[in-house]
This record gives sequence, structure tokens and C-alpha cells, in this order.
Amino acid sequence: MVTLNLRDIFERFDVFEGSFTIPPENLRLPADLGEIREPVRVYVVIRKDRNGYAVSIDMEGNVELECSRCLEPFSKDLPRHLEKHIESYPREEHVVLSQEDLDVSFMEEPDTVNVEELVREEIILSIPMKPLCRPDCGGFHLADLFEKESPADPRFAILKDLLTG
Ligand SMILES: [Zn+2]
Repeated sequence: MVTLNLRDIFERFDVFEGSFTIPPENLRLPADLGEIREPVRVYVVIRKDRNGYAVSIDMEGNVELECSRCLEPFSKDLPRHLEKHIESYPREEHVVLSQEDLDVSFMEEPDTVNVEELVREEIILSIPMKPLCRPDCGGFHLADLFEKESPADPRFAILKDLLTG
């Protein structure tokens, strides 16, 4: 666990910079989402800002996903660079989130950030809803199936007659 006490750090420094190699077992993803199989290298820079902290993360690693069309596993690079804003949980009872707030993470403990948890969260957010092994993945090769099955279908025979007749 890489937990940073930001209050302590920023009492002495203006900027925090750190490199971490996070082992896959500390980045477990929900099983149906994907899997991290190799260590992920991150370089984190944190600066204090208005309401909290500005965090920039450079990542090197990949995640194994399952293609939503052909169901084959494939490896996808993790996002190279991310900018985040983190702050303590808002005190107001009702919070209206705007688009900008989607880039905000809240600290569970004031002025404390768990780098691994932050990286894990960003990896999860980076995984597309319907991952594709390549943009033009043809899926199950439905066309091949169609070729084999269709001659038996009388509707196609009629259609063929109409077209040639
Ligand atoms: Zn595919």
C-alpha cells in the first residue's frame, strides 16, 4: 500500500514527485472488467491547489481485456498521462456534480491519498464499455455462418429467382 500523507509532505515541500512500480496483485480489477497481469509503473506529481491537490499521473503498463465482439482476450495499453484533482469529501449534504467533477476524486481520509487505489480507479475508468481487440473486429464471422446456412432457406431461393429473373 502506498499511502501518502499530503499534509506532512506539503509542510516541507511544494511539490511531491514519486515513481512507483505497482504489483498486479495490488491492482485487482472486477473480474468481468479485465485483468492486470504485469506490474504497472507510475510517475506521480502532486501539487497543492485551491480546494485540494492537483495530481498528474504517467502510467506504463497494460490491461488484458476481452473483446466484446469476438470474445478473444487482448492486451490494451493503459492511459499514458492523466490529470486529476483530488479533494476531501464535500461537507454539504447535497452535492450537484458537474462535468468537471468527473475528474475529481475524493479522499477518504483528509489529506491522504493511496496511490495504488487512485491508479486502480483510473484504470477502471479507462476501460471502454465495449472493448474491441481492433476497431474493425468482425466478431464471430457471422458472414461465414450465413454462407453455410442460407442456401437451405427457401426465402433466399425466391430472392435469387427474383434477382436473376
Ligand atoms: Zn475482437
